Amino acid sequence: MHTEVVPIDADPPDAGAIARAAAVLRAGGLVAFPTETVYGLGASALDADAVARIFAAKGRPSNNPLIVHVADIPDVGRVAADWPGSAARLAERFWPGPLTLVLPKRPDLPDAVTAGGPTVAVRVPAHPVALALIRAAGVPIAAPSANRSGYISPTRAEHVLSGLDGRIDMVLDAGQVPGGIESTVLDLTSHPPRLLRPGLVSPAEIESIIGPVARPASRGEPSASPLPSPGMLARHYAPRTPLELAEDGGARVEELRRAGLRVGWLAFGATELAGVTVVQMPCDPDGYAARLYAALHALDGAGVARIIVSRPPESDEWLAVRDRLRRAAAP
Ligand code: AMP
Ligand code: MG
Repeated sequence: MHTEVVPIDADPPDAGAIARAAAVLRAGGLVAFPTETVYGLGASALDADAVARIFAAKGRPSNNPLIVHVADIPDVGRVAADWPGSAARLAERFWPGPLTLVLPKRPDLPDAVTAGGPTVAVRVPAHPVALALIRAAGVPIAAPSANRSGYISPTRAEHVLSGLDGRIDMVLDAGQVPGGIESTVLDLTSHPPRLLRPGLVSPAEIESIIGPVARPASRGEPSASPLPSPGMLARHYAPRTPLELAEDGGARVEELRRAGLRVGWLAFGATELAGVTVVQMPCDPDGYAARLYAALHALDGAGVARIIVSRPPESDEWLAVRDRLRRAAAP
């Protein structure tokens, strides 16, 4: 299959390009498109064969459900069977935006979307290209991140192509996306609501709207209890190069360098070390999240034997970044 790359301005998106991509989606094809979090790999959520193509292109385990993207709140009713008051309040505050709500699914939604489960994850994305595409397609769009399963999520069209060139129909290339890591996933079918995946919307922001939510295990440690969502795999978002989180990144880098290893380092603050590929990371969590995957893609392509990441702070604002790094470092 030839993968067509279509450059597109974000604001306003070119109507002709959007119409072509929407036609591909309506015909059951796969289109990668920018969202405000990462690039998504879209297919019509109402077309079971198209959804199956997402799993095949990504090599995604069939027990890992997809997030459905809709253009506005009324369209949630095309995939979900219930719209509780808590969902309405959260949508009012955070949509369009990086908060995904897990709700009871409609019986006629293809099972492949929800991995056979009784619930569906849904959100309204904030990127103008994503919104225009969903509107033009006229159907809810199932879209996981546009990468091979388990690998680093794409924040640029080049990242999409490095994993999926020849496996999908089209990429809408709007350059680097702003958010950099995935949406927050909140399960509204459990009581209290449960955070399944930390993301760009923080638990504190959610709690300010609907009160207490159950958190993932604190301090970034893996939970001992069974995983509520098959997507919460221990190893995920991972470069091919072994990645290690270090309390004292500089000391660890120096140690490996003396042992003769080529090392890449995600560092805080200005640092230069001969023979080490250093990426300076921002010291604020949003800035760090926006740069994280591009930095990991760069280091993974730099021919280093090990990637060392200076451990970010333990505070709540760093929850999503710590979650991604912990999974990237998992064996
Ligand atoms: P991705 O699309 O690659 O960002 O991954 C989607 C995430 O949402 C995964 O962690 C999924 O397990 C999670 N997810 C999607 N649908 C559901 C659902 N119905 N219940 C729980 N988690 C879900
Ligand atoms: Mg993903």
